[in-house]
Amino acid sequence: MENLNPKYNIQQLIINASKYVDIHSRRLMKLLEPERLLRVRMVVETDDGIPTPFLGYRGQYATWMGPAKGGIRFHCETDEDEVSFLCMAMGHKCNINRLPFGGGKGGVKPNFELIRMLYPEREKYIRDSFPKKISPKVREDISRKYEEKIRLIIGPDQDIPAPDVYTDGQVMAWIMDNYSRAKGYTVPAVITGKPVILGGSLGRDKATGRGTFITALEACKYLGVRDFEKERVAIQGFGNAGSVAAKLFHEAGFVVIAVSDSRGGVHNAKGLDPVLVEQHKIKTGSVVGFEGDQISNEELLSLPCTVLVPAALENSITENNASDICARIIAEAANGPTTAAADKILFQKDIFIVPDILANAGGVIVSYFEWVQGREQLYWTEKEVNERLSTIITESFRQVVERHDKYKKYKVDMRTAAYIYSLERFEEAGRLRGC
Ligand code: NAD
Repeated sequence: MENLNPKYNIQQLIINASKYVDIHSRRLMKLLEPERLLRVRMVVETDDGIPTPFLGYRGQYATWMGPAKGGIRFHCETDEDEVSFLCMAMGHKCNINRLPFGGGKGGVKPNFELIRMLYPEREKYIRDSFPKKISPKVREDISRKYEEKIRLIIGPDQDIPAPDVYTDGQVMAWIMDNYSRAKGYTVPAVITGKPVILGGSLGRDKATGRGTFITALEACKYLGVRDFEKERVAIQGFGNAGSVAAKLFHEAGFVVIAVSDSRGGVHNAKGLDPVLVEQHKIKTGSVVGFEGDQISNEELLSLPCTVLVPAALENSITENNASDICARIIAEAANGPTTAAADKILFQKDIFIVPDILANAGGVIVSYFEWVQGREQLYWTEKEVNERLSTIITESFRQVVERHDKYKKYKVDMRTAAYIYSLERFEEAGRLRGC
């Protein structure tokens, strides 16, 4: 049975990549765990008027590169291992894009252990309502209480959170407001992903999908695919990252043959118009029911296509379905969508992977721009933001491919190549600092 613990998998990945890097064992050890993992409790009155226990986490990693940076996730299944993995991955993501940050990540969920002890009959209600169906009032209360508890370790020079799954600009605005109230003045650079009027960066909302699109395009060029008109794309997870990527592929002339969300997917060999799919999703709450063949998420993954974009949650490509994948390129918009065993199968099938820390780095790159703009109190145009994003992520792709080519004879895949590049940088910075 495959070990699906994402923390274990990233540890194995780092150890494996370290074989190609002259890294001091002390620094390697420091990179195998988050530097700090804070666990906090909150009590929030949910929409049924009953005080309910919640848990929050904030992990920080490799902060010798700079303040921790990474999102906050509201999800029933988040836990210490997931937050550990995500903050470690964020550290490597910032590092291979040469951003002056360590890794950070946060998660919030109901404390089901206590809920089961106190009132087991409420577990289903809470599971069904969190995070999607809670009212704005409860969402705000959770956001402010979480900020209050992690305030000890966040700040523009310490740790700068951002949105992740089921958190958005509004949640960031509440967190920024709460932090600023405590300080007595407005501190925009404590968080990124804010609404533009509060110091958010233009282009941030589309940055992750844009980065996925740019790196997938680079992968196409690297593999000699140049006539995009005929190339087919399938996207699992039509949320923020997936829908933006879908629109950019469509605009560039690719044929988007399938998209999906948590309820299922839709397929049309002649191509879907992502703008119309989005309108359908806004109207009905899902891509399901849009004109075309109704397919499952498993069926979407096995469609023959040039680019497959997993843009949902982790572990969607496993040893059970990897051999069914017929894509030429997998551009990982999601964090950790491919398990270690699946990686081996995909490598044997000669499927080229643009790993998550490269393919979905657009969000954190523009978050970095937002932090810079917040500190400098100046604002860049969307065009400026997009150009800077493109320059950085294209160079990152080049650096990773260079390692991939260099170590090809040892069967090094793109994911390992990305971690080799990252370890080289962590080692050099750590050695120079003497830490
Ligand atoms: P989102 O909530 O906007 O979208 C997620 C989408 O995935 C939704 O459409 C949801 O219905 C769908 N989904 C959930 N479970 C699914 C399943 N089992 N099968 C198919 N679809 C499913 O989230 P997002 O911001 O687009 O993030 C998606 C992924 O990208 C996550 O892994 C996240 O960590 C990663 N990511 C996002 C950003 C960002 O800036 N948004 C940055 C880096 C990485």
